Amino acid sequence: WSFTKTQFFDRMMYESTNIPPEGNWNYEYITQNLIQAERVKNILFSGRTPYQSVMIVDGENYGRSLLLDGKTQSTEADEFIYHEALVQPAMLAHSNPRTIFIAGGGEGATAREILMHRSVTKAVMVDIDAEVVKLCKKYLPNHHGGAFDDPRLDLHYGDAFRYLAKIDDRFDVIIIDVPDPLEAGPAYSLFTKEFYTLAKSKLSPQGLLVAQAGPTGPTLNEQCFTVVSHTINNVFGSTYPYEALVPSFGGTWGFVIGSKGPNPASIDRNVLDEQIKMRIAGTLKFFDGTTNDGLFSIPKYLRNSLDNETRVITCDAPL
Ligand code: SAM
Repeated sequence: WSFTKTQFFDRMMYESTNIPPEGNWNYEYITQNLIQAERVKNILFSGRTPYQSVMIVDGENYGRSLLLDGKTQSTEADEFIYHEALVQPAMLAHSNPRTIFIAGGGEGATAREILMHRSVTKAVMVDIDAEVVKLCKKYLPNHHGGAFDDPRLDLHYGDAFRYLAKIDDRFDVIIIDVPDPLEAGPAYSLFTKEFYTLAKSKLSPQGLLVAQAGPTGPTLNEQCFTVVSHTINNVFGSTYPYEALVPSFGGTWGFVIGSKGPNPASIDRNVLDEQIKMRIAGTLKFFDGTTNDGLFSIPKYLRNSLDNETRVITCDAPL
């Protein structure tokens, strides 16, 4: 048996559904050995910026999606899971988040989640790629939901590490929403001990940092998640790793909070539901008190992997 990738998918599809595999398919490598595929209606944009390759597709299953360097960043159908999971636990753990820093976050959906909080007076967002932001503004309106027009958003273009290093501001919450640290990608330095140390120094006394930290499945969690968690723990001392299932990412996804005070995992679910009512303008679709309990109840294999992790990411020894 020897098939090309396309012949293989065509045959599998026909045998399992009796539907001819017509149309265009977007094949994405989850790893070198694992592919997922979606039939696409339209490729809205495909090109390169000085920093990365960019594709925006309109998929039959997930709707409009942004891909950078061939990896799905978020999709219209399930971005709410990723963005609420990234933003809301840290925001709600802080008693009164007013000033927020976003590293990356090109789609504008992280900003959207932050700006739902009535307490927020200013959100500084620094994305390295003006072209990606421009494309997201144009093609992903359901992602940003108008966040780019909110006067509280202070948008800058540049490397988030360099930007944060040169300002004197203090932030209540810092959110790192950049792609995984691929060797050649522009984001690897934002996963280092040096960056987390800088970020901690820019947090207010009860401040929290949260980072998306890659897949958490049994075969993938040690690629990025456990080592990011260990590195943040090395800087903060108090770390709260958690995971959510994001279907378009091909499995469960990890996030890590480093905290200077509040414990996001210990908030009573009913208290959290009350906080959401009082503090958020708008409706959340994924996150509430019950979901928060689930997010931080990570499975045994993952707790074991975290316990066994010893690596620390540095600029000299990046991931
Ligand atoms: N949801 C995502 C994921 O799962 O990987 C991250 C999405 S968001 C689109 C990533 C953004 O980070 C992109 O717009 C990219 O331009 C930006 N980015 C990458 N490296 C950066 C850096 N060093 N400083 C600031 N922004 C960066």
